[in-house]
Amino acid sequence: MSQFPVVDGELIVGGMPLSRLAARVGQTPFYAYDRNLLTRRVSDLRTALPAGIELHYAMKANPMPAVVAHMARLVDGIDVASAGELKVALDAGADPADVSFAGPGKRDVELQQAVASGVLVNLESLREVDVLAQASAKLGLPARVAVRVNPDFELKGSGMKMGGGPKQFGVDVEVVPTLMARIAAAGLAFEGFHLFAGSQNLRADSICEAQAKSYELALRLAEGAPGLVRFLNLGGGFGIPYFPGEQRLDLVPIGENLSIIQARAAKDMPQASIVIELGRYFVGEAGVYVARVVDRKVSRGQVFLVADGGLHHHLAASGNFGQVVRKNYPVTIGNKAASAKRETASVVGPLCTPLDLLADRMDLPAADVGDLVVVFQSGAYGASASPQNFLGHPACVEVLV
Ligand SMILES: *Cc1c(COP(=O)(O)O)cnc(C)c1O
Repeated sequence: MSQFPVVDGELIVGGMPLSRLAARVGQTPFYAYDRNLLTRRVSDLRTALPAGIELHYAMKANPMPAVVAHMARLVDGIDVASAGELKVALDAGADPADVSFAGPGKRDVELQQAVASGVLVNLESLREVDVLAQASAKLGLPARVAVRVNPDFELKGSGMKMGGGPKQFGVDVEVVPTLMARIAAAGLAFEGFHLFAGSQNLRADSICEAQAKSYELALRLAEGAPGLVRFLNLGGGFGIPYFPGEQRLDLVPIGENLSIIQARAAKDMPQASIVIELGRYFVGEAGVYVARVVDRKVSRGQVFLVADGGLHHHLAASGNFGQVVRKNYPVTIGNKAASAKRETASVVGPLCTPLDLLADRMDLPAADVGDLVVVFQSGAYGASASPQNFLGHPACVEVLV
């Protein structure tokens, strides 16, 4: 499953044997993200999708400033979900013209910052229109807005549903006409629509269906829109395989489906750029989490490798980040990756809680104190999505190599 080669028995990350990389970083635990894998992922996706489809990076998946700066050079826009992320994106050199800001609880000051920055705000309530109108008047700049629509359908097969039914995200499609009238009355610069149905989906047919339905919905809403649709964000939700038996997402039908949508849009709304926004799919497979074995214990016949990192740095790998059933992420012993001597072992972290589990009775290269545990598929929702202060252990380091 891993995209990282093994040379002379050792995993290579960013072109470097893992033990040397660990020496370069100077501590464990750490996250390492491979620059070349990020670059390759974007270019592979561009090859698979029709030319002209715009790719946005949803930076909440991995907000490390160096990663955001690298991605900003490769993609067509950055999606932020707070003023904190907005700062990182702008510092990274993202063009404000290509930054959009979504999120259900944008504070007044964040909305003002968005107007002053010149980024596009994905509106998620009637209140946001009023706050933006005030900010626009104060700054003499009309706020750039798109309407985030909570559609009347769901993304089937998605790990996390973020549209359809009652949701805190976006504005229910029934309320969108009222919202659009308010946008017009307030004189805001309307640019289009944003639909995001859900996340971590490995089923191309569901993604195609959601995109097609999103397009139909946007087309219907465009009739009453207070301006031309220049921006049509059809969401994303492209998943990556984590667990045995999961199949990689098939991009071919998605590319074909987007070609059809693109051809229709060229007639229906010729000014519109079609945008896909992805977080995990861009960065998830390009990252590893690395921790060192600090103790090896055998308890009633079961081997425990106790590592210096765990749940507090990598909540998702412990199975506590929204998972219903805990499953092992792909794990290996990075400095012994090709070893023929294997055993069944559990990898646990240093925290005093049984939840701190990185691998539950997995078949792994036999390991000892000092060896390096590697958790793959760790480039998204890792360091920034984990409770680093829990139990007062040292923070992890992140490197882009
Ligand atoms: C979280 C989020 C994303 C990214 O989701 P991934 O599953 O990481 O691709 C994209 N858009 C919005 C609006 C989000 O909230």
